[in-house]
Amino acid sequence: MAIDRAVILGGGPGGYEAALVAAQLGAEVTVVDSDGLGGSAVLTDCVPSKTLIATAEVMSDLSGAAELGVSFADQGGGTATEIRVDLERVNARVKQLAADQSRDIHRRLVRDGVRIVSGRGRLDGPGRVIASLTDGGEETIEGDAILVATGAAPRTLPSAQPDGERILTWEQVYDLTEVPSELIVVGSGVTGAEFASAYLNLGIPVTLVSSRDRVLPGEDADAATVLEEVLRRRGMKVLSKSRMESVTRSGDTVTVTLTDGRAVQGSHCILALGSVPNTAELGLEDAGVRLKDGGFVHVDRVSRTSTRGIYAAGDCTGVLMLASVAAMQGRIAMAHFLGDTVHPLDLKKVSSNVFTAPEIATVGWSQQAVENGEMEAEVVMLPMSGNPRAKMQGVRDGFVKLFCRPGTGIVVGGVVVGPRASELIHPVSIAVAESLTADQLAGAFTVYPSMSGSLAEAARRLHRV
Ligand SMILES: Cc1cc2nc3c(=O)[nH]c(=O)nc-3n(C[C@H](O)[C@H](O)[C@H](O)COP(=O)(O)OP(=O)(O)OC[C@H]3O[C@@H](n4cnc5c(N)ncnc54)[C@H](O)[C@@H]3O)c2cc1C
Repeated sequence: MAIDRAVILGGGPGGYEAALVAAQLGAEVTVVDSDGLGGSAVLTDCVPSKTLIATAEVMSDLSGAAELGVSFADQGGGTATEIRVDLERVNARVKQLAADQSRDIHRRLVRDGVRIVSGRGRLDGPGRVIASLTDGGEETIEGDAILVATGAAPRTLPSAQPDGERILTWEQVYDLTEVPSELIVVGSGVTGAEFASAYLNLGIPVTLVSSRDRVLPGEDADAATVLEEVLRRRGMKVLSKSRMESVTRSGDTVTVTLTDGRAVQGSHCILALGSVPNTAELGLEDAGVRLKDGGFVHVDRVSRTSTRGIYAAGDCTGVLMLASVAAMQGRIAMAHFLGDTVHPLDLKKVSSNVFTAPEIATVGWSQQAVENGEMEAEVVMLPMSGNPRAKMQGVRDGFVKLFCRPGTGIVVGGVVVGPRASELIHPVSIAVAESLTADQLAGAFTVYPSMSGSLAEAARRLHRV
């Protein structure tokens, strides 16, 4: 029997996770990747930003240490008043960690029998890929299925062009060797909020330019309000309803001009204006692959494009720009192609996190959907400040929120705002994935004292007789 051949364009989580599944299922797999295994997720986006944020978290914890009775003595026996970050060392660590992880993924793929072609691929009809090799020349690779997982790149504007020195995309910030004296972050979506929060906690004065009336317009409104309050309290200037028109540089000064004529000046600016898919010049249209507005690849819930035998996964589809979703779409594509059990992508089971301080983690249906009448649900929200562990740790900001169906009591969503919310959301994710009831969530023991105790308490409050 002929062996199924899969050709994968792009070695990010959408591509490499698919490659591992396809190899496990017995296919002959080739990954064509242009920039290094792990993709943007590992080399420029998730991994570097979360590594930077790990340092910011230490700084944030230290800033609250005095309340817990900790003071820092300088070498002369006095009390040290300032803790500084060595940004050059932080960035060196970030880049090293990303490069190591990329190498680990490369090794794992090779060990599992995946062939890796270093180069830029494009489709040559439905069953063939042409790779322009990094070392020169071209290679034609035939496949019974092709997975397009080419990711996305930072959006820039003609009036706001990065120069890699003071006007930066999120991919360029790790080349900074000097600490910005005044940082402006343009864009208050997840990426903008994460960088603004991180650099603020690293001790850098930050102005956040937000075109909307609050930060994180796509997230739970209560959570975004808590975050904005915390950011302002820690000294961030948040400019709401302020749309950027242009970003220019003169010497060491960067000026962000707003559409209402105001101007904000700083030493550096990070552009967090969203992403554009890497789908140009891939030969997609010629292969009959339908694109959506903005150039994203149209896919169904099992990652099929409009052309038989061509699948797509990850940021290039614009379905939900998360590494976890990219990986799942890639795995689903290969399971579908190779006849394994397929569970179509269910976005209502995706848990996600905004890595600000405090973190904001969500899963399932949102409060907005409940308010719009898309889902009938009862809602309970408990502030973190009442939790005994939170009191011990000096945590005041944050809450847990649970949504459950009236009648059945089945948990359909939740929000956690607080330190390590990304870890605390997991029991709610399990409840949503497995259709557990609030009573079942309340019935499982939680450690005393623990932040997760608030989740059980919220579930108890949803009990109906
Ligand atoms: C700052 C930031 C932080 C983030 N943090 C998180 C997080 O904490 N958690 C999370 O889940 N998500 C996070 N994301 C989102 C996450 O990075 C993406 O969803 C994820 O990278 C998508 O994976 P992908 O495989 O689709 O694409 P990518 O990771 O972009 O990989 C695609 C790869 O394909 C390569 N490629 C492109 N064109 C070609 C071609 N023609 N031929 C060969 N190769 C090609 C690219 O160079 C790239 O290496 C973050 C995003 C940003 C911007």
